[in-house]
Amino acid sequence: MIKQDGKADRGQDPADIDFVSASDQSFLDALPLHGAANPSTDRQGTSPGSFSMAADIGGPRMFSSPDTPGMPAPSELTAWDFLPGGWSIEDHPDGCVGHNQGAGRAIRAVPPRGFEPVTQLEFARLGLITDAMRRVAEREPHLTVEQIRDEIAAGRLIIPANIRHLEYELDPMAIGRASKTKINANMGASPVSSGTDEEVEKLRWAERWGADTVMDLSTGGDLDQCREAILRHSRVPIGTVPIYSMIIGRKLEDLDAEVILETLKHQAKQGVDYFTIHAGLLRSHIPYVKDRLIGIVSRGGSLLAKWMLTHGQENPMYDLWDEICEIMREYDVSFSIGDGLRPGGLADATDRAQLAELEVIGELTERAWQHGVQVMVEGPGHVSFDQIEYNMKLQRRKCHGAPFYVLGPLVTDIFPGYDHITSCIGATSAGWHGASMLCYVTPKEHLGLPKRDDVKQGCIAYKIAAHASDVALGIPGSRDRDDELTKARAALNWERHFELSFDPDTARALHDEDLDVDTNFCAMCGHDWCSVRISREIQEIASGKDADYAWDKSKVSDALTEEQKAILEQRGVLDPEEIHRLASKTKRSMKGGKAQASCHSDTTSSSDAQAMQDKEMGTFVELNTAPAHNISKHDSII
Ligand code: SF4
Repeated sequence: MIKQDGKADRGQDPADIDFVSASDQSFLDALPLHGAANPSTDRQGTSPGSFSMAADIGGPRMFSSPDTPGMPAPSELTAWDFLPGGWSIEDHPDGCVGHNQGAGRAIRAVPPRGFEPVTQLEFARLGLITDAMRRVAEREPHLTVEQIRDEIAAGRLIIPANIRHLEYELDPMAIGRASKTKINANMGASPVSSGTDEEVEKLRWAERWGADTVMDLSTGGDLDQCREAILRHSRVPIGTVPIYSMIIGRKLEDLDAEVILETLKHQAKQGVDYFTIHAGLLRSHIPYVKDRLIGIVSRGGSLLAKWMLTHGQENPMYDLWDEICEIMREYDVSFSIGDGLRPGGLADATDRAQLAELEVIGELTERAWQHGVQVMVEGPGHVSFDQIEYNMKLQRRKCHGAPFYVLGPLVTDIFPGYDHITSCIGATSAGWHGASMLCYVTPKEHLGLPKRDDVKQGCIAYKIAAHASDVALGIPGSRDRDDELTKARAALNWERHFELSFDPDTARALHDEDLDVDTNFCAMCGHDWCSVRISREIQEIASGKDADYAWDKSKVSDALTEEQKAILEQRGVLDPEEIHRLASKTKRSMKGGKAQASCHSDTTSSSDAQAMQDKEMGTFVELNTAPAHNISKHDSII
């Protein structure tokens, strides 16, 4: 129902609105738009754009989903409320905005005399811009370098960049809700599988498939050598769980403060960019896990719980928090505060143990900020779909907007072998509701150590989740490549279609498996049923096709060999090199690269196209559909 003033009556059921006769404005008023940017730079297409909240630049709702009623509100505090002792705040025209110290104020922190900043957080607090912030601004074109600095100062964005790692090949990146959603790939040798060379190879592989950070979770082999090699070869930040190294070669019971601090110093000096430290799990939380279906599933969490029960003492990571912060500050290692009590099954999600630990993680976040250390926080785990928003928004409140780094979460437990899918569904929801980085899960999750192809499958599933979240959140420009691909698809421009695909080789190989020829249809529907081709006949739509796309005759490329066909039939487990070889073969035979493919049924008569289809695929649909559409032979379709 539209009111007299042209506005939709929000009291009415939107289903009552007459969209056909609504004016443009009343049509838009009836949609659940909240002012977020259209994620297409050029506003291409007909979609009204994102349904998320207006980007709250410099506020706690920077790119956020609308809160479902009952969700926790954002915290009113930021990292500005947790400055080190002896610091003050002053107004300065080149200072930071995006804090809670008074609307419109530009401020900077005033440290004690003789203070030298080390961490990105400290530079930001002083109103200073670093090379790493400038690089991040290049990689996040929707943000200015000042906005990046201000978000870091507020604690809502981190640049995990150890000052040692910056001396190697690290390319600085940012994690936070203001930036695009990131993904992490886990890797690491286990006591039963893999070695240093294989792990470096996996690192390269993870980088190739879009991992924004990599965690070395090695628990076997020469951990030190493996970590050193990974740090020297990585362009992305590297995270570790240092407790793994602390207990190699000794009994868990022998873990003490000296071992903990020495291990952290060593890894910080090596150049590790972020540490997962499970300090939020306290002795008092342990009784909460006794009724869980699966207890404690975090390796770090279970080790520390056992240590606490053995010694009858508090979690040493919690007790040593201030000393740990000092070590991390010295090299600008960021925290990834671990969730040792994350649920390991849907039945244990959002329980008292998990939330009690989160409460402590909030306190640890505040204390780390007081030491000038950058913080992100780790989250669950296995969470049913309905509980994901609450989990994201509760963390936002308890940790005052510190970036949330979530593992999945898996939204069901009964698909081992496919947990990259069960978890990327949860990860998409988590990204939409506030997570800043999504830790991938591979098909080998719960089953074994991921191999190269598992790493690829996990990365791709999570790139999908992260990108889908960014588009939904209305991050400016995030839909541009989708729009370009849509145009290429509409133009049936296969070369461009492949180029814009995230994995062009696989897209090309799958296309060519059925129809190894460039036509204005594909094997999915066939010539006569190709709705895109028919749509082009109905109306000349905007085309992504190159202006000089000039083909004068159809040309069929060399057919796939029997061997290649056999490989494609196993594509679910296809080795990436085999895909690449297949695709290269096809590209060569189609005169790929700069040269245009030389066949397309734009310039091929309908009968030639039908003959080609018959030859390649056999006739599997009625070719002339005009009778089915009640169109006489000579009718013009338009
Ligand atoms: S044949 Fe079907 S799937 Fe293939 S391009 Fe046409 S409409 Fe798309």
